[in-house]
Amino acid sequence: MSTHAPTTPTPATPGKSMDAIMALCKRRGFVYQASDIYGGINGFWDYGPLGAQLKKNLREAWWQDMIMNPCWGRKGPGGERVRCVPVETCIIQHPKVWEASGHLAGFADPMRKCPGCGHFVRADQLRDVLKTQSEWVASLLNEFEALKQTQTFDRDRLTKWARGKGKKLAPNLALVTSTETTLSWLQERMSTWAINPMNDDEIIDYAATAQLQQTGLQQPCPRCGGVLGTPAPFKLMFETYAGIIQTDDNKVYLRPETAQGVFLHFKNVVDSTRVKVPFGIGNTGRSFRNEITPRNFTFRSREFEQAELEFFCHPDESFEWYKFWRDFRMEWWQSIGLAGENLILREHAKDELSHYSVGTSDVEYRFPFTAPGFGELEGIAHRGNYDLTQHQTHSKVKLDYFDTTRGETLPNGGKKGERYMPHCIEPAAGLDRGTLALICEGYTVDPSRPSPEILKLHPRIAPIKAAVFPLMDKDGLPEIADKLTDDLFANFGRLGFIESDAKQSIGKRYARMDEAGCPYCFTIDGDSAKDQTVTCRDRDTGQQMRMSIDKVVGFVGEKLGV
Ligand code: ATP
Repeated sequence: MSTHAPTTPTPATPGKSMDAIMALCKRRGFVYQASDIYGGINGFWDYGPLGAQLKKNLREAWWQDMIMNPCWGRKGPGGERVRCVPVETCIIQHPKVWEASGHLAGFADPMRKCPGCGHFVRADQLRDVLKTQSEWVASLLNEFEALKQTQTFDRDRLTKWARGKGKKLAPNLALVTSTETTLSWLQERMSTWAINPMNDDEIIDYAATAQLQQTGLQQPCPRCGGVLGTPAPFKLMFETYAGIIQTDDNKVYLRPETAQGVFLHFKNVVDSTRVKVPFGIGNTGRSFRNEITPRNFTFRSREFEQAELEFFCHPDESFEWYKFWRDFRMEWWQSIGLAGENLILREHAKDELSHYSVGTSDVEYRFPFTAPGFGELEGIAHRGNYDLTQHQTHSKVKLDYFDTTRGETLPNGGKKGERYMPHCIEPAAGLDRGTLALICEGYTVDPSRPSPEILKLHPRIAPIKAAVFPLMDKDGLPEIADKLTDDLFANFGRLGFIESDAKQSIGKRYARMDEAGCPYCFTIDGDSAKDQTVTCRDRDTGQQMRMSIDKVVGFVGEKLGV
């Protein structure tokens, strides 16, 4: 996870606790732990009725705005219409695909094992994990807060910590197991504190180092404080076998990304359709990564869904297309409800880029668990011609493109044509992270409301589109409600749920819909039968207005943008 410090840190919105959000997700049927009744399985999450529809709405918004009507009809950098087509490709592909893509050799995270407790931690996440998830580190740094004020070494205080809290929380930490020697190094270092202050990383490492002269500074296990081993690669691809015989010859892999399926069919799509470069091929579907530390709810899962577009263009135009897609993707997330300072577009620094990429940007969201930093929602990468070239080399099938619109002009006015390997711009979004960001952004606590938890989802994405409530279950009100429900269902049932509920107090019914993110509730009361009007209640403001029943469908349609 990339958790980058924002330029102007803003605290997470008060009340947006992940525990509260996860509790709401379970209570209202958005997200359940997979295999819940067996105690769950780490890194796997299922979606309940509302979550399944919410994620489907997100996927369909992506499909609509990226494939069917790309970029809302906006023209590309050269003034051309943006053209995209879909494919649907298999989770399991020929193993050579992953050799060509580089995943077999390179798709591994550097892991460090603690010999003390057997815990594994990702080497590149160690600092982050130590400072955000380790109980003993939090406790030790708390002790140092006081020492920082006076900038003096306090042997008694640190010895007391080592024998008490330290022993309990970090039994393998050098400061606990070899208190005297560890403190002697620390004392020496702290004597220069005034001119050379220690940062938290250094304090943690000193606490983990008993024999500084022999070993240099050590890095500790976030769980028990033991000294971590050297980093070793850990393969992230899940393996299985295709066929009855389970040997290496039959070994196959669950795809770690959907993109490769697109590159494999670049030539098929060009040959079987009338698309011409520049054009894109999109693909949505499940990907699998055996993440070492799945965490932060659905943010880092082992099974997740991606929505990826590979946009092929002429090398000379590729940088313009890269900028075009980078900016559009940011605008797109804003259009479905992530507008505001919780969303940023972060251009990668040169040293972060893959060797083949001339530009990569991430759309990042400030999740409650990354705040004040951000976590990646989507990466937009200029991939050059790396993937097509790799597959051409490994498959020995020519994947270059003959462009009849380029080259010298011939005497007959036509073009001589130009053969080239297209460059590719890849906006790669995660639908689970997207769904989570929408839930986190929408989750609002308003203590002034009778039921303070509200999920302010954009109407286009909300899983329940409208609710109809007869105030009483008599006097003809249910019949009017049924008729309105039928009308709403006929018009918008394909986009989400239409709820109808005649039970409980009206306040409780509104509260249920607020938590579920339903943008509009329509209440039928005694006057409805007389003047054919209903009350429309707005989820976000709680305000109510009266409207004619025959205007309801038009009103909802306008709000949903359909
Ligand atoms: P990270 O650095 O967070 O591991 P990544 O850069 O490896 O992510 P990509 O390979 O660019 O991710 O995948 C594109 C998108 O797929 C990501 O932006 C993210 O939304 C989603 N994604 C990747 N890994 C996971 C995961 N383990 N769980 C959920 N979504 C994921």
